[in-house]
Amino acid sequence: MVTGFAQMARGSKRGDDSKKKSVNGVVGLNNLGNTCFMNSSIQCLSNTIPLTDYFLNHDYKHEINKNNEFGTGGALVLAYAELMKEAWLGSRSVVSPKDFKRKLARFAPRFAGTRQHDAQEFLSFLLDGIHEDLNLVIKKPYIEDIEGDGTNDEKVSMKSWQNYLMRNKSIIVDIFQGQLKCTLKCKVCSNLVVKFDPFMYLSLPLSNETKTLDDCLKLFCEEESLTGDNQWYCPKCKKTCGCNYAHGFVDFTSYFDSSSQEVQTGFKVWSLFEEQTTYTSQIKGLGLGYICFSTNFVITCL
Ligand SMILES: [Zn+2]
Repeated sequence: MVTGFAQMARGSKRGDDSKKKSVNGVVGLNNLGNTCFMNSSIQCLSNTIPLTDYFLNHDYKHEINKNNEFGTGGALVLAYAELMKEAWLGSRSVVSPKDFKRKLARFAPRFAGTRQHDAQEFLSFLLDGIHEDLNLVIKKPYIEDIEGDGTNDEKVSMKSWQNYLMRNKSIIVDIFQGQLKCTLKCKVCSNLVVKFDPFMYLSLPLSNETKTLDDCLKLFCEEESLTGDNQWYCPKCKKTCGCNYAHGFVDFTSYFDSSSQEVQTGFKVWSLFEEQTTYTSQIKGLGLGYICFSTNFVITCL
């Protein structure tokens, strides 16, 4: 049996079509038991063009961090790269991820058998593994979390991202990771605590009214009241009390400033505590990612 979004999209017929010429990654992946969770995840990643382009057209091998204790010494990323080359540069329209799965299981034995697994769990392991195998940071420094008070968002956001990049720097960060603004507001003294956290996945809420991804993202950003067991200890009024909590997406953008002839970084936050706020930063060279959430929640490549 062959699975694959691209394969299904072009309406493949049953039978052995493995000898037909492949067209730029339009390939099926053999199901190795119950590996739909793995194959569907790989198809999504394979069609994430900036990542596949990186493996097909760039010298990724010199970025492999063989001594990272959190990685696999490069084994996982090499296995994934080989699979991508077979899918995109090979001549078969059906490829087998058997070798990739065997190598994967060496580092994650839970994926060794033919049982079903959660696709998100697999994707999380794979992206984390590729990130650590390609992490350009050789020695991760200890860095304390920082937080702001709502008056210095731009500075705290940029500093938080700089701190994160001091421990994590890879193509996975560039493509898949962003920054969330998390705001807590004390209901007793109105103290505001703002933190900027990196994220790679979002668990989005659903309701009877949510019909599109935009609806889910807007619901995710809605202010909520934390009470009961979720009450918060306010460091200002020294009370454990209810608070309002909200998320916002940070949108980094880069543009060329003709007056200074330099690349500058812009900064926007979308949240419900405030209308869209736009800042312009003089901080340069942050190496910010390709993918951000724009204010209307369309994913944009910068
Ligand atoms: Zn307070």
